[in-house]
Amino acid sequence: MNKEELKEIWGKFVENKDFKLNPDTEKVNEIAEIILKNEEKTGLKLCPCQINTVCPCNFKIQKNWKNKGTCICNLFVKK
Ligand code: SF4
Repeated sequence: MNKEELKEIWGKFVENKDFKLNPDTEKVNEIAEIILKNEEKTGLKLCPCQINTVCPCNFKIQKNWKNKGTCICNLFVKK
């Protein structure tokens, strides 16, 4: 999978949700690159900022979502 394919999957994931991809495309690209490198190394799309967590995680139950309206890595943000 390449970066564009991953971003397309994320685009579908956020459809009809109360959150969207971070409009900061540099940030999104940076996160996508790390996740794809993690996948190359481990076979899993591991989160850049949490240990042993596959992306997307269940971020809406996390404190960060309640306090800041974003997932911990800032990949997904409240609309
Ligand atoms: S914090 Fe964001 S980038 Fe990390 S796993 Fe959760 S959704 Fe993915």
